[in-house]
Amino acid sequence: MLDHLKANNRAWATRKVAADADFFKRLERQQAPEYLWIGCSDSRVPANEIVGLDPGELFVHRNVANLAPPQDANYLSVLQFAVDVLKVKHIMVVGHYGCGGVAAAVDGRRRGLVDHWLHPIRDLYREHQAALEKIPSPQARLDRLCEFNVIRQVRNVGSDVFVQDAWARSQGLSVHGWVYSLSNGLVQDLEVSVSGPQDVEELPL
Ligand SMILES: [Zn+2]
Repeated sequence: MLDHLKANNRAWATRKVAADADFFKRLERQQAPEYLWIGCSDSRVPANEIVGLDPGELFVHRNVANLAPPQDANYLSVLQFAVDVLKVKHIMVVGHYGCGGVAAAVDGRRRGLVDHWLHPIRDLYREHQAALEKIPSPQARLDRLCEFNVIRQVRNVGSDVFVQDAWARSQGLSVHGWVYSLSNGLVQDLEVSVSGPQDVEELPL
């Protein structure tokens, strides 16, 4: 079963060792990434590949629609480990245009459990309904909502006690909001980076 994937894996491991004989030995000894990526589960948004980072260089958390819900134990565990143990210097919340999760949040169709998961995006839409509905193209409106969602998640991460405590003890840590474009492979920085409690207060959403 899945023999092609196992063959791919063997070829990949061989290539890595051919290029750098100590590659896996070094990784086995230590994990010291400087970055935490909070992104969408979408298969078209491969975190490491997009930013050209090797194994060991990027700590990754992905879920549907790149959410950072303050009561989600999975996300919080990743965040605390990244901030308190790995001491990452940067956290990137990375949304993407054409996000199926963001679209599903507001299309009015019932899907089951995921409707609960996407609830924060529905709330965000309602909060900014007037502004969003001024955008005539439905696609552009959803893309704007993808950006709003990223900014809101930057606020969630920046408001978290683990992050606030890190700042209180002068640990260097910034949270950034990016959106990735499936159509050209480029990341756009939404320029909502926060590096302290005051920055979080000043976020537009
Ligand atoms: Zn997505």
